[in-house]
Amino acid sequence: MKSIDRPSPNHDDRNGAAIDMLVLHYTGMASGLAAIDRLCDPSAKVSAHYTIDEDGTVYAHVPEERRAWHAGVSHWAGVDNLNSGSIGIELVNPGHDYGYRAFPEAQIASLIELCGGILSRHPIPPARVLGHSDVAPARKEDPGELFPWARLAEAGIGLWPQGATSDLGPDALTRYGYDPNAPQDKLITAFQRHFRPGNLNGAWDDDCAGLLAGLLASTGV
Ligand SMILES: [Zn+2]
Repeated sequence: MKSIDRPSPNHDDRNGAAIDMLVLHYTGMASGLAAIDRLCDPSAKVSAHYTIDEDGTVYAHVPEERRAWHAGVSHWAGVDNLNSGSIGIELVNPGHDYGYRAFPEAQIASLIELCGGILSRHPIPPARVLGHSDVAPARKEDPGELFPWARLAEAGIGLWPQGATSDLGPDALTRYGYDPNAPQDKLITAFQRHFRPGNLNGAWDDDCAGLLAGLLASTGV
């Protein structure tokens, strides 16, 4: 894994918050270089701890003990504004607005290596390895339905549900951590984008119910 220091001035104090979440993003800009420039631009007031380019190069922007500015208005499991307790990783990808495409093998291999190190340094539960769309479902789609969550879970990063038979309704999404104040169709779509990426219809069905039941069972929520 090739790693390059590319410091960003956009960070501040965690105010004592423990690191207990990992949030994954895509850059959503036409070029990776432009995205990295923006993440290091003091006037943009955004950052992440790391960006991984499509060739697998890791750019280190912000020390993990500092708070990077990646999640914005966000919510998970009763907590708002998740930057204080999270580490943010950006993956270079044009995203849905500029030509969303598959994440190359080299990029995912570096991500798995980087996440392995992060998870060894900080006690982040598997259920708290999330996408930006999970924690900001009304306004974000990243890292999106092409992101290989199942493969990461095989590598010990995050959860991938075993389907069960269940009659859970979509209201149970908030038990898992999703924002109870977001519109329900947005919540369902965010859930599908992460855990049922083959069909993002925003409608609850038995498949969704079974997957959510599997997740809830594996986390004991
Ligand atoms: Zn994002």
